[in-house]
Amino acid sequence: MNTTPSTRATDRCWIEVDLHALVRNAKALGAQARKPLMPMVKADAYGLGMLPVVRALEATDPWGYGVATITEGEELRKAQIHRPILVITPQEPTAKPHKAIRAANLIPALGDAKSIRLWMMTGGGDWHLSIDTGMNRAGIRYDDIGSLAEVLTACPPAGAFTHFHSSELDNGSMELQTQRFLDAVAAMPAMPPMLHTENSAAIERTSPSPWSVVRPGVFLYGVGSGGKIEPEPVVRFYACVVDIHDLKPGDTVSYDATWVAKRPTRLATLGVGYADGYRRSLGNRGTVLINGKRAPVAGTVTMDLTMVDVTGIECQRGDIATLMGQDGEERLTVEQVGAACDLSPYELLTALRARAPRLYI
Ligand SMILES: *Cc1c(COP(=O)(O)O)cnc(C)c1O
Repeated sequence: MNTTPSTRATDRCWIEVDLHALVRNAKALGAQARKPLMPMVKADAYGLGMLPVVRALEATDPWGYGVATITEGEELRKAQIHRPILVITPQEPTAKPHKAIRAANLIPALGDAKSIRLWMMTGGGDWHLSIDTGMNRAGIRYDDIGSLAEVLTACPPAGAFTHFHSSELDNGSMELQTQRFLDAVAAMPAMPPMLHTENSAAIERTSPSPWSVVRPGVFLYGVGSGGKIEPEPVVRFYACVVDIHDLKPGDTVSYDATWVAKRPTRLATLGVGYADGYRRSLGNRGTVLINGKRAPVAGTVTMDLTMVDVTGIECQRGDIATLMGQDGEERLTVEQVGAACDLSPYELLTALRARAPRLYI
């Protein structure tokens, strides 16, 4: 595991994405599920960069990819990705999105009679039935499949799927949703050739997968849920020390003066702020690593700069601080940084998309 950045990408801050670790995480999931993957690469691959991520994952021979929007699917087609691409969110019930989906040779996830008819009328083709088994977000209710009997007979789907709301919890909800999914599939006029349900946490808990493909997201990007397998970290976030200040007791730091020096204090200013994805809510709560030591964030994180307390830590202008990653014996995981500012790892990663450049390893 890297303890230092591979290169100094800028004199401010940057994000390293370890594509080797990403590929190893994908292979670990494949070995666990013993089924092909449909990596979820929505939201710019959770903020890591959709195209580099997909190009790396191509080497693992996935079944195809899952995206949330038509635009994301179109981008993959423009990049010469020819595998199946499932657009998992519902579309506006007009011909326009359905035509766009067909033009890009994408697969829609449909869950109501009107959309299925529109898909047929605009030319038909492969589609997957979205079945809601308890999330109450998208798709046909598991106990209402009968209302689609006519359209399902006229235009049978190539697949059917559902999504778990709490697969990271061992509370019986996944089993209940699975039973509802099985009942719903049994109520279809014909069994579709492909069935899928599992996100990362569900794959971690179930081996081998009983379904046709699995749909991992966050595990690929280095965040596990404490299941049977652990992912390798994929994201490392670094920032440079751009200034050093010595404070006297009573001096305050940053906007609203929320941090007051209680003793002679040395502060390092880092070239990173919330416009780079280092969240404002980490003010007075986050920690960074400098020369193998933990340095707490002092005061409010500003748009472009963040101050950390380096009293007693060897630190000079130009040193590199690790915001996520490893430095010597110390490590900061995406989960730990998220916990420090009450954000889920998903939210933290998808917000890393602003100004900080990405360096692909
Ligand atoms: C985002 C998403 C996934 C992936 O979930 P993770 O928890 O990131 O593994 C799987 N299926 C659907 C329908 C999704 O929206």
